Amino acid sequence: MRRQKAMDQEVYRFPRSRLGALIERLARDYRVVGPVRRGAEHAWADVGPGAELALDYPTTMLPPRQFFAPPRELLFRFRRGADGRYTCHEPEAERPVALLGVHGCDLTGLRVLRSFHESSCRDRVVTGRLDRAFILGLACWAPCTAEAFCRDMASLESEAPAALYAWDLGDVLLVKVLTARGREVLQDVTALEAATSDEQVALRHRLRVRHEAFPSHLRFPPDRLAVALEAAADDLLWEATADRCLSCGRCNLVCPTCTCFDVGDEGTLDGAAAVRFRRWTGCQVPGFSKVAGGRDFRPTRAQQLRYRVVRKGKYMPERYGMVGCTGCGRCIAHCPTHISIREIFRQVGGGGGAGAAA
Ligand code: SF4
Ligand code: SF4
Repeated sequence: MRRQKAMDQEVYRFPRSRLGALIERLARDYRVVGPVRRGAEHAWADVGPGAELALDYPTTMLPPRQFFAPPRELLFRFRRGADGRYTCHEPEAERPVALLGVHGCDLTGLRVLRSFHESSCRDRVVTGRLDRAFILGLACWAPCTAEAFCRDMASLESEAPAALYAWDLGDVLLVKVLTARGREVLQDVTALEAATSDEQVALRHRLRVRHEAFPSHLRFPPDRLAVALEAAADDLLWEATADRCLSCGRCNLVCPTCTCFDVGDEGTLDGAAAVRFRRWTGCQVPGFSKVAGGRDFRPTRAQQLRYRVVRKGKYMPERYGMVGCTGCGRCIAHCPTHISIREIFRQVGGGGGAGAAA
């Protein structure tokens, strides 16, 4: 049904040879970023018209949230003048970002990022960046890693907040127009030529094959997680799993939906100048839950691990209306001791039937 609907909307042919022209067009208004190969891995990087854009990339270690809520960000600097008065200076306005080739899991992650910054802290710096961005979404044809479970978490087919969404068929990409801005950019770069019937058939076939290529790891829908996690609040699995946790925080850093940050000041010893910045932090890092007076309200690794998982599956949907896990699999792939949120979801959800692989 959804696949049929996709073809009913504006879908145009985009010759692969026009990718350079697209980058050139976007570079007039945006800082253009896309996936590029870095040794055996892929990463997001600035790209120009002649860049080797790796649209066939499996995934990146860091998600695109880094361009909207950077790992470390200057908020403002203040300085004491000759008259002893302080003045405050905000950073210069930055160019909006155009992101090329964002997969469904990371598109979902950007929606979660927006809902957190809109409803929790009303952070217009982050939402403003999201508002000004141009995003080309890109369909995946196969799971990017063995750890991915995006189909279970309903993010495989996510398209918003992209302006354009592409299915890569080789020499031609079929591109769906999702916003007026997307249409404007597309027609600046190529004639708006409808997909041929052969291409439409090819796309439907690839979508059918793709559905089979993504195994189901969980035997329940993500909206059942909140109830399942509540019922598992005192389960022994938290202690047993946390025994392997090193509190390194990698799971937080690589997650497209982790949003926590810390704010600090760095100043000169004479107090004449200082900067205020914020930087990523995470609930798995020791000291994260320490408050004034030295009290830590979540001191054990089991409590910290449980909090991370329950926040994704229960607190975020309750508070922001969206499940906080996209199933990208990054936290599993990058955990040094292979702690798997997918396996925890499977255990609490009772999805351990035959074929429910971890
Ligand atoms: S990456 Fe793994 S070991 Fe490190 S804090 Fe997260 S769960 Fe613990
Ligand atoms: S919790 Fe893990 S699998 Fe879920 S979105 Fe974050 S990194 Fe991806």
